[in-house]
Amino acid sequence: MKAIEVKHLSFCYDEKTPILNDVSFTLNQGETLTIVGKNGSGKSTLAKILVGLLPFKNGQIKIFENEIDPKKDIAATYHLAIVFQNPDNQFIASSVEDDIAFGLENYCVDPARMHDLVKKYAKMVGMENYLEFAPENLSGGQKQRVAIAGVLALNANIIIFDEATSMLDPEGKKDFHQTLNTLKKENPLLTIIMITHDKEEIINSDKILVLDKGEAVLFIKTNELNKYREQFLNLGLDLPFNYSLISELNKNGFAIDFSDDYQEIIKQL
Ligand code: ADP
Repeated sequence: MKAIEVKHLSFCYDEKTPILNDVSFTLNQGETLTIVGKNGSGKSTLAKILVGLLPFKNGQIKIFENEIDPKKDIAATYHLAIVFQNPDNQFIASSVEDDIAFGLENYCVDPARMHDLVKKYAKMVGMENYLEFAPENLSGGQKQRVAIAGVLALNANIIIFDEATSMLDPEGKKDFHQTLNTLKKENPLLTIIMITHDKEEIINSDKILVLDKGEAVLFIKTNELNKYREQFLNLGLDLPFNYSLISELNKNGFAIDFSDDYQEIIKQL
């Protein structure tokens, strides 16, 4: 089933300057999409429209094959969740435990199961030893982990991470993607949208959407990235390290491509 279908979506904040211009893309249930693009290209605006925080007038959005009404509570109807870049805007409670529990309370989770669920998700993001801590005493990366745990605990159908890993170090990002893989094993229909500036995160997705000045200039499968390498670079975007590495190896006479087990080949060089 299609999880999200966006057709000819255009949007402006002030009735004059177009921020999104005729954007279309489709995401199936269980897929992960990465949205990339320079600052100001419209990524966050698109995320906010998808979760119903910004009502749109032009275009069509279907979620689980139902056309959405921008005036209704889209997030609650389709069980959509979003994690923003700045975790400070998302903390409500005075301890990590209460904060993760807050969303669960809104979903009327049985209080007897609450503590175990909070512990499970805190552990998933490596914050199980901080349950009693006040969020304001945590580092930026720790706050992002808690914000991520709070949303994972909601067991949403679609989760949007809007630069939600920007304060995590490379190890933290790796853990985060492993956590998502674990969740996808538990729920193969979980659909994810990642907005990121980190080129290495791209490889964890099935599809890539590139926004440039509000236009969807590229919408490809991640395993086709090599084919679109020039276009990607021309848009001012960086390729993940492995892609650049293979490109350099090719230029230097090593005939390796992505269908080869290049990790093994690289080890042998
Ligand atoms: P990105 O996430 O790709 O950096 P945004 O969606 O945040 O892009 O912003 C796209 C454009 O919309 C930018 O030019 C930004 O200044 C403008 N913009 C964002 N939020 C608002 C707002 N609330 N009111 C008016 N303009 C906005």
